[in-house]
Amino acid sequence: MSSVARRDVPFVDFRAALAPLRQEIDEAIRRVLDSGWYILGPEGEAFERELCEFFGVKEAVGVANGTEALQLALEALQLGPEAEVVTSPLTAAFTALAIVRAGARPVLADVDPVTLNISAETIRRVLTPRTKALMPVDLYGHPADLDPILALAHERGFAVIEDACQAHGALYRGRPVGYSCPAALSFYPTKNLGALGDGGALLLNDSSMSGRVRQLRNGGQTDRYHHLLPGMNSRLDEIQAAILRVKLRHLGASNARRRQLAEVYLEELADSGVGLPQEQPYAQAAYHLFVIRSVERDALLEHLHSNGVGALIHYPIPLHLQPAFRELRQGSVSLPVVERAAREILSLPLTPELTEEQVRYVSSVVRSFRTA
Ligand SMILES: *Cc1c(COP(=O)(O)O)cnc(C)c1O
Repeated sequence: MSSVARRDVPFVDFRAALAPLRQEIDEAIRRVLDSGWYILGPEGEAFERELCEFFGVKEAVGVANGTEALQLALEALQLGPEAEVVTSPLTAAFTALAIVRAGARPVLADVDPVTLNISAETIRRVLTPRTKALMPVDLYGHPADLDPILALAHERGFAVIEDACQAHGALYRGRPVGYSCPAALSFYPTKNLGALGDGGALLLNDSSMSGRVRQLRNGGQTDRYHHLLPGMNSRLDEIQAAILRVKLRHLGASNARRRQLAEVYLEELADSGVGLPQEQPYAQAAYHLFVIRSVERDALLEHLHSNGVGALIHYPIPLHLQPAFRELRQGSVSLPVVERAAREILSLPLTPELTEEQVRYVSSVVRSFRTA
């Protein structure tokens, strides 16, 4: 690295991300403070309408976070006791926690070695008579191959809920996620559409489910103080909704910027010997994360850190190996693909506020690894 000056490239820089939006966001917050209305009001309703427009769906229900968007979708489906929901072992643990909180049992299918998403093929291997729903995850913003999964679900009578918490604005067969099955979004601050706090939404194209989810998120009430269902408190507050309305207006541009920077990485790392993310013909990724693979991952991570690059691992421990999910150890079912992937994956910084020059610097650090 003698020829390139060392610099610091953080994994995320929230203040840099906020700076260009600061005035719009200050105004949005002031609007809510002036209104004196903080929960379930006009900002949340407007945000839900604007989400519907952006995603081309009929209904959007704002909730407290992405985990509860998944949980509420499952609860609205009333899967019954002992229900199994098939999902990915390579995801934020919150995906599987949502299933547990909804009273069902997560069953983990192995991932596809190229896309690192679960597929109809890997899902088939773990089906049982208790399988009631499938929950594919659009990992790193790359949509799972949904059509074969939906076909399988249709054939067997399963519900499908998409964990699109990393895929705001990704396209599957030309359409944003949420078009062909309920999709959960998270607005955790690091996500492509991030709040300044927690938030989430459920996108629905089937209006029969949305009324139930709206009830469940607000304690199961039909009218004030009349509780029809044992719901929960999972409301999106007005300040976050107002902030998210500003952020949503910039989502198209910020996703385009992520794609542009991903292109720079793909070019710069083409012959570097590391594995690169591959966009599939059926999808356009939202590049929530830019994840490379190396058999010498731990040493490469060290090398990046010692050269000022804030790289991370998403996720170091597959869910079946987490203590919280000890009970999920699935007897004879082994998950070799995800176990290998978890040893090789490494996320490079990729946020819209990075410069091309920073991305080229990170790439040069990766390329210098073997020769360092
Ligand atoms: C962030 C995330 C969640 C959880 O969302 P929260 O808003 O943090 O509850 C669930 N699944 C995936 C894939 C995520 O990335």
